Amino acid sequence: MTVPIDVRDLLGHPGASRTVHVGEPVAGLATQVASVPEDRPVAGDLLFESVIEGLLVSGSLEGTMALVCARCLKPIESAFRIDVQELFAPGATPTDDEYPVTDGSVDLEPMIRDAVVLAMPFAPLCRPDCQGLCERCGGDRNLGECACPPETDSRWSALLELNFSDDVMGMARERRGEGRG
Ligand SMILES: [Zn+2]
Ligand SMILES: [Zn+2]
Repeated sequence: MTVPIDVRDLLGHPGASRTVHVGEPVAGLATQVASVPEDRPVAGDLLFESVIEGLLVSGSLEGTMALVCARCLKPIESAFRIDVQELFAPGATPTDDEYPVTDGSVDLEPMIRDAVVLAMPFAPLCRPDCQGLCERCGGDRNLGECACPPETDSRWSALLELNFSDDVMGMARERRGEGRG
């Protein structure tokens, strides 16, 4: 998929500029916990400015992300607005910081992809105090589906039930040759 913009009117005319509206769905914008649905466009008005080095493209991109709560796995939607400012230069290669200008046009798709994927959260939450799913029964703690006893209590009581002090003392005595007579 490409979002090509003809920029022949700007190239080689430093100081010239115009605004370009983008409103394209961009396929494949996704991480494990976030995505922009393919039917939802990433939209914005971008200012194209002709500069000595090529074209400076700046503005903001807006859209909607579909997220999955990292704790309870509930689907959530979140609007986003991302500021971009990137240089497009003739002869730029994939290892350059600039995006390329090829045959008098630029493809905005890689810039949109980079900006949106970078803005995707690693651990989205449906709400700041989401209680998440129980690791033992899988119940949603937000909905009261989990009836497991509190984990910290059972862990401490298990420790308290262990009475290993005699064993440890006995092993220490054996090692010193004591405790057999
Ligand atoms: Zn949640
Ligand atoms: Zn549980």
